[in-house]
Amino acid sequence: MDFNGRVLLPSKYRKILSLHPNDLAELRAEGQKVILTAYGRRCRICGGKEKILDCSGFFLCESCKAKIP
Ligand SMILES: [Zn+2]
Repeated sequence: MDFNGRVLLPSKYRKILSLHPNDLAELRAEGQKVILTAYGRRCRICGGKEKILDCSGFFLCESCKAKIP
C-alpha cells in the first residue's frame, strides 16, 4: 500500500477477473480480508450489462444513455 492508501491489483489478478479500466467492481471487508468482486462492463446508472456503450470511458446502456439530454 502506498502513502495515500492505494493498492495496485497485479495484472495476474486483473486477468483472472477479466477486469479492465473503468469496469465496475466492488470491495467489501470480511474480518481482516478485503474481497474484490469484478462485475465487468456494466451500466453505471442501472447496473445492466446489455448493449453497453463506452461514453468516454464511462459505460452506459443504450436505454440510460437515451434518457440523458
Ligand atoms: Zn443503464
